[in-house]
Formats: sequence, structure tokens, C-alpha cells
Amino acid sequence: MNRVRLLVFNRALSVLDYSVPDGMVVEPGAVVIAPLGPRQITGIVWEPERLAGDEVPASKLRPIREVLPVPPLSAPLRRLIEWTADYYCAHMSSVARMVISSGGALGGPATMTEYRLSGAEADRLTSKRAIALEKLVGEQGTIRELGAFAGVSDGVLRGMVNAGLIEPVTVAIDRPFPRAKADHDRPDLSADQSEVADRLTQAVKDKDFAPFLLDGVTGSGKTEVYFEPVAEAIRLGRQVLVLLPEIALTEAFLTRFERRFGAAPVLWHSSLKSTERRRAWRAISDGSAQVVVGARSALFLPYANLGLIVVDEAHEVSFKQDDGVRYNARDVSVMRARFEKIPVVLASATPALESLQMAESGIYEKLDLPSRFGGAQLPSIQTIDLTQEKPGAGRWLAPPLVAALEDRLSKGEQSLLFLNRRGFAPLTLCRNCGYRFKCPNCSAWLVEHRLSRRLSCHHCGHETTPPQTCPECGEPDCLVACGPGVERIADEVAEILPEARVAIATSDTLNSPERAAAFIAQAEAGGIDVIVGTQLVTKGFHFPELTLVGVVDADLGLEGGDLRAAERTYQQIAQVAGRAGRGAKPGEVFLQTRHGDAPVIAALVDGDRDAFYAAETEARRDAGAPPFGRWAAIIISSEDDREAREAANRLGSGRPQHDDLMVLGPAPAPLALLRGRYRYRFLINARRSVELQKIIAGWLDAFQFPPGVRLGVDIDPYSFV
Ligand code: ADP
Ligand code: ZN
Repeated sequence: MNRVRLLVFNRALSVLDYSVPDGMVVEPGAVVIAPLGPRQITGIVWEPERLAGDEVPASKLRPIREVLPVPPLSAPLRRLIEWTADYYCAHMSSVARMVISSGGALGGPATMTEYRLSGAEADRLTSKRAIALEKLVGEQGTIRELGAFAGVSDGVLRGMVNAGLIEPVTVAIDRPFPRAKADHDRPDLSADQSEVADRLTQAVKDKDFAPFLLDGVTGSGKTEVYFEPVAEAIRLGRQVLVLLPEIALTEAFLTRFERRFGAAPVLWHSSLKSTERRRAWRAISDGSAQVVVGARSALFLPYANLGLIVVDEAHEVSFKQDDGVRYNARDVSVMRARFEKIPVVLASATPALESLQMAESGIYEKLDLPSRFGGAQLPSIQTIDLTQEKPGAGRWLAPPLVAALEDRLSKGEQSLLFLNRRGFAPLTLCRNCGYRFKCPNCSAWLVEHRLSRRLSCHHCGHETTPPQTCPECGEPDCLVACGPGVERIADEVAEILPEARVAIATSDTLNSPERAAAFIAQAEAGGIDVIVGTQLVTKGFHFPELTLVGVVDADLGLEGGDLRAAERTYQQIAQVAGRAGRGAKPGEVFLQTRHGDAPVIAALVDGDRDAFYAAETEARRDAGAPPFGRWAAIIISSEDDREAREAANRLGSGRPQHDDLMVLGPAPAPLALLRGRYRYRFLINARRSVELQKIIAGWLDAFQFPPGVRLGVDIDPYSFV
């Protein structure tokens, strides 16, 4: 090869041709550095026939400068990048950027300085130094890590380095990860569990594309079961990727994984430090990372030898990315498995309708775990009719739920109250003039957070301190909180049950792996009587003493009215109900509702999942909604309302005409203002037979917009705001 075509990380250029200097070996997928004008840019060598671009005459080609010391991206991964870009109407360079997600890793091996106690004696010590000397025995890390560990400032430790009490050591950044052992601590599986585990283990051995839907009720042992094919992959020296929907869940997962395999897996998520990120990236790309556990972005990493993908809680909406490349990690996982020719397991107690449909039509193989492990029973679910059983004035918990809470407390059992609203109150207004606190950047109310004494916007992060007087009419002490959030429910519990130990579990309180770990440890040790939490505590957690779940507002999720509202409500309530009665004692679940006769609520009470899915399937079929038809959204935004509106109207005038496709809009998006940008939206509904992406691309390509206008395409959208 004496000329190559590069995919570069610049949307405007995206494809460039270069020559290859004599003696340099360049294969497809290689990551290289090449000159562009006065700069040096990074690019990926691509098959020229798969990357459209203008042929540059040989005389004008500049030579590549160097090939970076990382393995070339494999052909299956290159195909995945192409497929993802095509399917989600995104740029290939944006997808490739998710693969090359550690700049540091490209530079090759490197070292860093860590510190440890030198062993030198000191005669007189400040109290802080004494603490550090005591706490840091056997520890090694960066100054910052050691400081955080010992609870002293960086300055104290630097002083100790100067005094010779602490010494620097040079270590390779990319030191190997501890090895997991396939048979470290194997559980005895039940007959049901073994059957499913054997099927999955066989699929790993077969090493061919095989998509599975692992459909098991909450507490059936899905994790123990999919650990078996994970073990097989480890035995065969192949890599495994486990995707989890939430970082808060990783702590519990890590503990279980370590118990089963004797070593921690390799973690991947957005808050890794850059050194951790490069260490993980390099181990993944050279094949030494055996099992990677991560958020959705782990899906695009350059695994050297992938043998299995597991998507846990596969129905979770957080697998859908809502900015940049708007992909759904659940769906892309299946595509990756197809390109890599390996099995993929979608595990859930409440699978997405789309996944069930794929199983029904024989595309996915369905594996069932119909009962809880160890003879535990599924909890009983009943409603509390809020129109009859009214909570007291200014209260949100109805008498039967209060009685149940009192009962659990007296027995020393745990309760969980679920309300999917962070903060104290979702709306604050002035009693005198009716003024409502609104975000200046978004069409959204400011949410009061009483613990942190803030009014904050959950969309853009805007925050203010609640004022003493109304900003509109100037009246003092006139602000009222409307509606409940978890903090308000926690206050109510504290009033009703003053002796109860109450914990709030939300992304505000469990915002780091350490805090999540502390919460789990406290709950497991019986140090919490009542947990009040958002969707964060609905899944994954296993607290055997938890026997009561109260859903504060079962109707909340149905109000949004978007396409998946009923399904999401079903999943959320079924999942949170699944936290109750996982141990020896049976669980009880109360749903507070005003619409006890709504089909979703009725199905939950009857424990009739099939009835719910059947009704939902028919509703979707009638609406031409997924999986029977397809949706796409196009959002046009600008900081200038008029500019956005005009662009939307112009685009609307060129809308595609097609018998099997309907374009709705443009209309102001439900979130008409978001982060200071005015937004207009088109919704497209199409039959499955239509080449939706091609039509959209053809439509959008014909337009040029002013630089202030942004265009976002969302294929198979989850968010309709
Ligand atoms: P799910 O993910 O289906 O809700 P888990 O995998 O969390 O269920 O299992 C529920 C509980 O039962 C966990 O504490 C798990 O360790 C335990 N468990 C499941 N199967 C077994 C088994 N075969 N042997 C021992 N414990 C098991
Ligand atoms: Zn805002």
C-alpha cells in the first residue's frame, strides 16, 4: 500500500488521503499521526472503498508521520463504527471518537510517580503527620489519593516528602490488572438456573453470534446465572463486557464479582481519572483486561478478543444516549455481537417490548427464570386509593401506608418509599402574587433542595439560593413549596416515626462510588429503617430485611404522556416492588394511586405481566409505534428564537413526501427552551419497510443553516421532550 485513506476526528474534513513512506507498515485500522497544514492530526486508516471522499492526485499526497503504538482497530469494530454512524445519522468521526476515548493511551507505555512511607523515623510529629504515618502503612498512590485516604491535605504530605518520611516510587501506569479466576467460588445453582447457565456457557464455547433474552423475575439469580458464561470466557482467555445502567449499581456488582472470581473486574465510566482511563483502555486493547464492567460508553472500546457481552437491566432507558451520537447501547450491543460473532445476553425482569417482540419472532433466544431463588416469594401488590384514603393535610402518605411503616419499624424490618422526584418540592411559588420560580435557561420550574438550600434546575444545573422576599411582589416570607420530592417525604417519615433511621437515596446523595458503597453497607447492616429514594434504588439492590415498598405516586410516570409512559411505569414499579421480600420474610407493596383501574396498575396488582404486555403490544400496533413502526425526532435549536423557528419552517417546507412516512411538525418542543436554546421539533413516524435514515439524510443534506442553528437527529427516540 503506498497510499492510504484516513478517517480523522474533524467533522468538516473527516476523510483525508496520504502517502505511506517507504519502510512504514500500515494496516487498516491503524491509528496514525499525519500532517494537516502546520498541525499534526490523529487518524484511523480505513478501507478506501468504504469511505467516500475525493481522490487526491498522488503528487499532492503528504506522507503519514508515524503509526501509533496501539493495536489497529479490528475489522468488526470498523464495521460497527460504520453501522452506528449510518443507523443513527451521525458522523463516523463522532463514533470513532468514542472508540479512541483515551488520548493518553495512544502514546504507548508510560510511567508515573507514586508515593509511600519511606520507613524513616521522626522524633517530633505534628498531629496531622502522625495521622498520615499511621494510616498510610502499606498504602501507595499519588499524593492526592493518599491525601484522600488518610484525610489530610496534599500540603501535609508534600511536607512529609521533603522531610523524607514519604518517598517517591516510579511505577508503570499500565501495570496489569489482577487476574480473575473462573472457579474461585462457584455457587450451587438450582436446576432452573443450571439449565439457563449451561445454554449460555455452550454459546460462549460455540463462539458465534447468538442473541439471548434472559427473562427472570426479580431475585431469580440472573447475575449468578450469567456469571457462568463469564467464567467460561475467562477459562477460554476471551474478554467479557458487562454493561450496567448506573454507576451507583457498580459498587454492589463489584463486591459480588470479587466474591465469585477472586479479583475485581476492570471498570469503565465517565468519571475515571485520565490515568485510570488509559490503563483500562490499553488493557482492553491488548486483551489483558478479562472482564470489563461499565456504563454504555464501554461498548465502543477496542477489545482485542471479545467473547461475550452482557447487558444487565437491559430495559433501562439510561442505555440510550441523548446527546452527541444518540445511540441505544442495548441495540448497538447486539450489533457488536453480530460483527464480532459472539453471544450477547440482555438480562431483565421487565424486558422492553421491543426485546420481547424479537424473542417472539425467534430472532432472540428467550431463557426464563420464572421463580425467585431459595424459595423466596414475589411480593403481594395492592393499591391505596388516594381519593378514599386521604393523607393528612400537607402530607403525602395515606393512613394504610403509615400503618404498614409503623408495623415494620416495630418488627425491626426495613421499608422503602419510592418517589421519582429529587429534592424537597418540584415547584415553589409566592403565596401573595402567584409568582413561580422558573429556570432562566429552560422551560422548567426550579426544584427546591432543602438539604443544600438551593433552588435548582434539573435540566441545565442552574442554581440560586431561595430569596427572603418574592422577586416579583417583594412580599417577605411568602414562598410555598408545592408537591413532594424525596426530601419532603423523608421529613414526613421523621415526623410520623421520630425514632426511625431514615436515609435518602438519590443521585444527589449517592453521587460517588464511595457514598454508594457506604449506603449499601449501612442498609445491609440494618442501620437504616426507611429508605426514601428515586429510580436509583429501584433495581439491583438486594436487602434481605426489606419487606415493605411504598410507591408514593404510582400515577406520576403516566402523566408525561409519551410513547413509552405505560411501559416505563410498569417497569419501574415492578422493579421497585422487586426489592421487597427477597430474603426469608415475604414482601408487601402498596401503590398510592388515583387511577387504580388504569390497565398498568391493574396488571401490577394482578401480577399479570403477560396481560400488560399484550395490551401494550396492541396499543403500539395501532399507533404504528415501535416495534411495529418507527419513530425519529429532529430537533432544531438556536439561542435566537426567531432564527430557530425560521430554520424549522424552512426545513418543514422541504419535508419528504412518502406514502409510508408521516412528518409531524415543526412545533415548539415540550422543552421549548433548554440550556438557553430555543427548540423546535419534527416527529417522524414511518413503517418498518421504509429506509428511514436514507430519507432523513437526503432531506437534511439539502439544507444549509446559519452557524447558530444546531440540528439533532434522534432515531428510535426515548425522550420526547
Ligand atoms: P436478580 O438479578 O435476578 O434480581 P440476583 O442475581 O441478585 O437476582 O440474586 C438474588 C439473590 O439470591 C442474591 O443475593 C444472590 O446472591 C442469591 N442467589 C441467587 N442464586 C444463588 C445460588 N445459586 N446460590 C446462592 N445464592 C444465590
Ligand atoms: Zn435550566
